[in-house]
Amino acid sequence: MIEAAAEGASASIGRLVAELDISRAWLVDPASGHEGPGEIVIRDGILEAVTFLEGEEADQARTDGVDGTGIVVAPGFIDLHAHFREPGNEDAETIATGVAAAAHGGFTTVCLMPNTSPALDEPSVLSRVRAAVAATESPIRVEAYGAVTAGRAGETLAALGELADAGVIGFSDDGAPVRSASILRNALAYAGALGLPIVDHPEDPTQTAGAEANDGLVATVLGLRGWPAAAEASAVARDLEILAEVVADVPGARLHLTHLSTAASIDLVRRAKSAGLPVTCDVTPHHLALTDEWIAGARRWAWEAIDDDGRARDPWRDQAIVAAPYDPSLRVNPPLRGPVDAAACLAGLLDGTVDAIATDHAPHTVVDKEVEFGLAANGISGIETALGLVLAAVDVGRLPLSKAIAALTSGPGRVLGATSIAGLDEGRLVDIVVFDRSSRWTVNGQTLRSRGTNSPLIERDLAGVVLVTLANGRLAHQAE
Ligand SMILES: [Zn+2]
Repeated sequence: MIEAAAEGASASIGRLVAELDISRAWLVDPASGHEGPGEIVIRDGILEAVTFLEGEEADQARTDGVDGTGIVVAPGFIDLHAHFREPGNEDAETIATGVAAAAHGGFTTVCLMPNTSPALDEPSVLSRVRAAVAATESPIRVEAYGAVTAGRAGETLAALGELADAGVIGFSDDGAPVRSASILRNALAYAGALGLPIVDHPEDPTQTAGAEANDGLVATVLGLRGWPAAAEASAVARDLEILAEVVADVPGARLHLTHLSTAASIDLVRRAKSAGLPVTCDVTPHHLALTDEWIAGARRWAWEAIDDDGRARDPWRDQAIVAAPYDPSLRVNPPLRGPVDAAACLAGLLDGTVDAIATDHAPHTVVDKEVEFGLAANGISGIETALGLVLAAVDVGRLPLSKAIAALTSGPGRVLGATSIAGLDEGRLVDIVVFDRSSRWTVNGQTLRSRGTNSPLIERDLAGVVLVTLANGRLAHQAE
């Protein structure tokens, strides 16, 4: 299926893909809306030919078993939200291990959050990140957000204009919300004039101080302090109200809400979009596939934890508890929610309210993570398991493969205003992922490229082995 010339096969990371033919594969191109059996030809790093089989040839290929359940070729994935921890916390992740993890996950473009140490609030920090990227051999495209406020302290605007000139793709205080509403108003206006989005982590911190787990049955039974859904929805509502006013004066103002996790927030965005507001949003793979009952020790997917009539099931009554409770790798901000909220995130993807799946890849050291649940650092190392979680939903028919791929490619591409890198277009430097949906892999410290092994999926088998990731015409990852 994958035939490489000798030179191509021996290629190492960063090497130009001289010659590679992939035939009898299932091609998915969300940018053009095409999906079907076909073949691609790569020469000297260029995607020379993309051929969708037609008529009898296509029928024959399907009869021979070439369908969306085997080898899939898609545009390289785009992650709108990742933390690579450099500079400042290289024990948790470095740019080098981060890009290797991204490529292993099928991502060819990653957008880094600025909550490094120091924060990326001025161009010199961006230069350090770029130097670290250049020092890797990887062809993965690394973009970065600048901080909204100086030092992410929430008090004064960072040098947005200088950061924009230096090439940031937007602004975020992620890790925390833009706390002050008046600063958010100024930031939306200023960034809007620069043609860049504000990416907000919507959370009202006055409602989440000391909170440990989603406010609900699981938190109550386990004695964990509740994290209300309203802490997110009220921040989303605030942001949207401010955006509505700012956009009247600054038509270029744009808001992107990241890692939405509740039905109420998704619904607010749905209404804002239908009212024509320039807002986009993403959800994470873990908020789609996992729920708070994992903290109690359940290990079933979100869609298995809900009744046909849309009500959450009781994991204790169902005898679904199979693991020890309080696994700190499940502590994340926003918290894993109940199955009804997870279903709302999925419904948002299906109806187009949600633009993208973003990983919020948040590697941590063992020291920061393997402590009491309520004291553990927030975050899941997730860039390598994103595809597997999404495919779990695809496998049971909850999410069409084409929608899943769109949410990882053309969707985030539109948010970035960079749709040109999100399609299978002939004549351009090749930027693709090839994965085998029919084979599975085990998540563990040996298989993960990330330094962060803080994942609730450790020792779990996931579908979808990434065979090869090509970015900018070069090899970024190849399965052993
Ligand atoms: Zn966040």
